[in-house]
Amino acid sequence: MLSGLYKLGIRDVQGLLLHMPLRYVDETRISEVRELRIGEQAQVEGEIIHLEVSYKPRKSLIARLSDGTGDIFLRFLNFYPSQIAALKEGTRIRALGEVRHGYFGYEMVHPQTRAVRETTAVKQTLTPVYPTTAGLSQPSIRKWVTWALNNGDVSETLPTQTYAKQTPSFQVSLQYLHNPPPEANLQAMENRSNPEWRRLAFDELISQQLSMRQHYAKRRELGAPVLKHSTILIPQLLSTLPFGLTNAQQRVVKEISQDLSRPYPMQRLLQGDVGSGKTIVAMLAALQAIENGYQAAIMAPTEILAEQHYQKMLYWLAPLDIQVAWLSGSQGKKDRVASLEAIASGDARIAIGTHALFQAQVQFNKLGLVVVDEQHRFGVEQRLSLRQKGQSDEVSAPHQLMMSATPIPRTLSMSYFADLDVSVIDELPPGRTPIATKLVSDARREEIVERVRAACSQGAQAYWVCPLIEESEVLQLQTALDTFDHLQQTFPDLKVGLVHGRMKSAEKQAVMAGFSQGDIQLLVATTVIEVGVDVPNSSLMVIEHAERMGLSQLHQLRGRVGRGAAKSACILIYQTPLSETARARLKIIYESSDGFEIAQADLHLRGPGEFLGIRQSGTPMLKIADLERDADLLEQAQAVADNLLKRHPVEAQKHLDRWLSRGDELVKV
Ligand code: ADP
Ligand code: MG
Repeated sequence: MLSGLYKLGIRDVQGLLLHMPLRYVDETRISEVRELRIGEQAQVEGEIIHLEVSYKPRKSLIARLSDGTGDIFLRFLNFYPSQIAALKEGTRIRALGEVRHGYFGYEMVHPQTRAVRETTAVKQTLTPVYPTTAGLSQPSIRKWVTWALNNGDVSETLPTQTYAKQTPSFQVSLQYLHNPPPEANLQAMENRSNPEWRRLAFDELISQQLSMRQHYAKRRELGAPVLKHSTILIPQLLSTLPFGLTNAQQRVVKEISQDLSRPYPMQRLLQGDVGSGKTIVAMLAALQAIENGYQAAIMAPTEILAEQHYQKMLYWLAPLDIQVAWLSGSQGKKDRVASLEAIASGDARIAIGTHALFQAQVQFNKLGLVVVDEQHRFGVEQRLSLRQKGQSDEVSAPHQLMMSATPIPRTLSMSYFADLDVSVIDELPPGRTPIATKLVSDARREEIVERVRAACSQGAQAYWVCPLIEESEVLQLQTALDTFDHLQQTFPDLKVGLVHGRMKSAEKQAVMAGFSQGDIQLLVATTVIEVGVDVPNSSLMVIEHAERMGLSQLHQLRGRVGRGAAKSACILIYQTPLSETARARLKIIYESSDGFEIAQADLHLRGPGEFLGIRQSGTPMLKIADLERDADLLEQAQAVADNLLKRHPVEAQKHLDRWLSRGDELVKV
């Protein structure tokens, strides 16, 4: 039993107290069959008047229950002999389940049933249902929680003025939610809108804010190189650029530049939709570090993207006489040693690479700035090793700039990103033509083939993205190879290229260079090209099995075109039948090209945990509060957290300890 609790992540009494019900069931009422409505959760009581094992539409045990006002069928798809015995004709049964429209009339599938007498009393209160695990029954969890309520510390952690006057206390709220009183309203309990749930949601949000803000404050206690504003390199680079910065770019450049000139490390997230021009902003930040005698490191999640940054930097920096080093996991030993030496000696002023940049052997001479591109794509470990690299001597750390093309809705940036400052590029460079998005069913492939042929023969370039096959990398590779073969045969007159994650990096580079220079007209690719790739002449994007991809992935892929003056299109091929979520996703991507709107919809569809991916598992996940429903509490929590840390650090810590003692996906920061 204890091992069951352990599996749930419950380590102590506080963990038990905060192991909250998932939902409640109402066993306080018995409904008449004639008053039932489809879709409602109900409890009925009556006599089994018929029982049979039926084979149509599939094998099931079907019991017909009558309560004198009507009949309802109880259906079980998997059943034991003991259930057949328990539902014998003539038995009086209480059944609890969702009322559905069944094969024969009203039915409940897999209802909870028990034999009763006419005199058996109904429950007086709502019954909580807890998250559980194999071997731990609901009644035993309930017993443990009750024990915790009687023996645990349920005192207040924070000063009373933290809460509004009518707010129920921690103890009262817990009692109410674990043991609902007879008058508790099922609806309010289920949608967590009553004051008791709201009180706990508020506490949870405060704990999250405290944890994030504490982290933020701790980094501020570290030293960082003071990087004065650039007077030479930045003006020099800007004068050679073929474009001027947009207003939004100028604004964020200023914000970043100011951060860099402070004696503590910048911890800033730069958000900007696909194609908004984040790379040049990072470049300018790097130049500020370099002009002050420091090095900058730029990390990208894929080799293709890192390579592209490298080429771009070489090109931009050539007139400035700045040495750039390249590091990746797959480069040859000789190159690697040379890069490592240049980084260690300080000859290389900028190092660009994949996460290979942050392995232990990499020693910087004087690292002043770390830029992480497409930050949301990095796993936790990589992010943490980066954090440690920055803090290796515990007293000073380099400035950090994280960049992300996944716009983060406000409630999320206020919560899960509260340990960062945020800058937003909310404007695209001028002259971009909108991308026309088309949804085409797989049955109309021929039309797409013709369209690609027409576009490419007129000098345009196109991507053809192969389906994502999550279950198997081998299968995914095979599909890419097959697609490539097939398209090569289909388009004998076009130069078709192929790029996928399993290729050697030199091969990848050669293909990408060929596509960039226009030698390759049609590039068959796996989702390795999802982020960052910038080939402005490409104007057509075909995505196969678009229904398998996530919203932000589709948005990112689509963002590979529409970067030049040519009119661009994105064709999403889907296979029917579509699941409901897939249909919802495709509808959104079809209707909107605004990354912010798409992210908001994505968040809504998937919830914050999945939206953020594992990236955020170093931070406390919210289990009670809902960022949409409790947005008002979030604002208040934010306002109180900094004040608590400043004025009531002991209480703040006590509060954090209580809430961080919960288990599950919660990992301590
Ligand atoms: P992202 O924000 O997606 O990383 P990039 O930095 O790759 O975008 O920029 C996309 C393209 O826009 C690049 O070709 C870049 O050179 C170009 N670009 C960036 N800023 C401007 C600007 N102010 N005006 C015109 N083009 C720009
Ligand atoms: Mg980019």
